[in-house]
Amino acid sequence: MDNYRNRWLWGLIFLVGVVGVNCTGSSPQGSGNEGASPSKIYRWKMVTTWPKNFPGLGMAPVHFAEAVRAMSGGRLLVKVYGAGELVPALGVFDAVSQGMTQMGHGASYYWKGKVPEAQFFCAVPFGLSPREMSGWLRFGGGMQLWKELYKPYGLVPFMGGNTGVQMGGWFNKEITSLEDIKGLKVRMPGLGGEVLERVGGVPVLIAGGEIFTSLQTGVIDAAEWVGPYNDLTFGFHKVAKIYHYPGWQEPGPILEFIVNEKALQTLPQDLRAVVQYAADAVHQIMLDEYAARDPAALEELIDTHNIKIVPYPEEVLAALKKESEVVLKSLSERSPMAKRIYDSYFAFKKRSERHTRITEGAFLDAR
Ligand code: CA
Repeated sequence: MDNYRNRWLWGLIFLVGVVGVNCTGSSPQGSGNEGASPSKIYRWKMVTTWPKNFPGLGMAPVHFAEAVRAMSGGRLLVKVYGAGELVPALGVFDAVSQGMTQMGHGASYYWKGKVPEAQFFCAVPFGLSPREMSGWLRFGGGMQLWKELYKPYGLVPFMGGNTGVQMGGWFNKEITSLEDIKGLKVRMPGLGGEVLERVGGVPVLIAGGEIFTSLQTGVIDAAEWVGPYNDLTFGFHKVAKIYHYPGWQEPGPILEFIVNEKALQTLPQDLRAVVQYAADAVHQIMLDEYAARDPAALEELIDTHNIKIVPYPEEVLAALKKESEVVLKSLSERSPMAKRIYDSYFAFKKRSERHTRITEGAFLDAR
């Protein structure tokens, strides 16, 4: 994996070098930062929604800071703060929007109370797979819509990682029918939580760092977080024994870097490219890390901790899928912007489904 990561970084250093050479000796045309000095050192702060250095999720900001430092020759330095160090986990969006810090890393569904449409850019129940999601954002019109959505808040979004398809969550009582979900308090953010509510569950939104205690003390009955690698780190297997799958609620959640637009504009053009390509590299590195570490963690949960891995019953998945359609349709009716994002997302999904089925789907079934 280190070799792969190094190849990425060297490729990016080359790309940024090309941009840098083009800029040398003159003000970058149309960059809006004509006063910027090429030798100036920019010091940024990045607040995050994760515990400091949390495996996978919390390492994306760290990898980003390392990549940016290396690619800029030390001209852009980013100091990373864990959840609660400067602002609470769920206060990241406001902190960056208001210019308290230049950057943040988190997941857009945490801001659903402020920007409901942002949920399309993180996790859509029964939605796009990780590969399809990247395709939609980068080449299917998704990123333009995301930028437009965040513009009024003075923010520029970047893809900031993807955990891959998640797990369905931790329970102490096996879900055998829809009846078992009634009244169950489940930590489940975003649209997944809304869907759960429609089949009788009680979604609770709490930050990752508080899940273990909430499960242990019975504040919640069940919780979804990420998948084997991250869930093992938090030790959920010590307080719950049933691990349901699949993660219908988060089939390929995108994480985000958000950058204060004014701060981004103060950077010389080469450093803006550094920010873009560092985010791109970190996005891929996270996918690779989960692909490598989730299977090993799953093995440990089964073999060492005797966790019972159970699929959701078909009738439960069918009901959740049906209610997902209602929730997403209703979200699309909340604003003209929501409708545009919904139309773009589902047009892409419709086109991708057949292709994914006869390629990855058929292949996985066959191998
Ligand atoms: Ca999750």
